Amino acid sequence: MKVKDVLVTQKKNFNILKQAYDNDRLSHAYLFYGEKGTGKKEMAYALACMLYCKNGCCFECPECKRILSGNHINVSYITVDDDKRQISKEQIIQLQDEFSKTSLEEGPRVYIVDGIDETSISGQNSLLKFIEEPQNKEKTIGIFIATELSNVVTTIQSRCVLEHFDNIPRDSLRDIIHESGIELIDASLLSCLTNDSDEALEIYKNDNYFMVRDSFLELLDIKTKKDMTLFYLKNQMFYSDYQNLNMLLSFILQFLEDVNLSKNSTDKLILKPLCDKILSYKKKNNNLEEKYENILNDFKMLKANVLAKNVFFDIVDKFI
Ligand SMILES: [Zn+2]
Repeated sequence: MKVKDVLVTQKKNFNILKQAYDNDRLSHAYLFYGEKGTGKKEMAYALACMLYCKNGCCFECPECKRILSGNHINVSYITVDDDKRQISKEQIIQLQDEFSKTSLEEGPRVYIVDGIDETSISGQNSLLKFIEEPQNKEKTIGIFIATELSNVVTTIQSRCVLEHFDNIPRDSLRDIIHESGIELIDASLLSCLTNDSDEALEIYKNDNYFMVRDSFLELLDIKTKKDMTLFYLKNQMFYSDYQNLNMLLSFILQFLEDVNLSKNSTDKLILKPLCDKILSYKKKNNNLEEKYENILNDFKMLKANVLAKNVFFDIVDKFI
């Protein structure tokens, strides 16, 4: 996700911050929480841009660019290092040390702690005093980012303005993925697999994704029992893998949801490029609810560790 995307996907949260900024009522500490991929880090950077941009947060001017590239001396970011499980006490001490000194550049200062819920209790406690009284004269704003709010000590929660980040609607996520240069059909399918656009791009690098995609599209064209059996035999090894089958199921479920949606209108379909197939499937099947229930049941079976290859047979049989 790009930072400017939060203006659309998290408009409500952005507007709350913008309004506070315009009225000179920004808090000195925020806690952004919500699932992965909801734009919390991006919003933290948007807030930093807001403080420095002369065009009302344009993300294009030199000030915005400096912040977004991580080169602004007054904006600091720490997160869990790749090889660690937690933000370390040393990282926190270093941050506090940096903020106790006068900056070489005038203007408000922002520190972002991405993963406060992945910081030890003692690490979190050492931040408390810092939140209350940063030791420099400039206006200082702390932004804490968490996926699991319950892992953040209540003493930090009570000192922050809490902002919850809702999951991004699937159609917006699809459009974000598409805008990053991925074909609409793939963006649509990838949006069924994750809530996180960065994770979607990772999945897109995986060969198995393309194999599932191709066989899913093939499945949509099967018309006879004989073809169905051939399809099953050809793919049964590949779909004895839990993750591959899980991916296929996610596509099928979204397809059936779209079939259902298309009763009213085709404007809101997630799998828009498959619109023709969705409409013809709707025409051919008058037991849609039953089909949906059956496939949902397959999902549950898979979660309950029923052998993937048995579930695969059931899916093919019931979907067609
Ligand atoms: Zn700007």
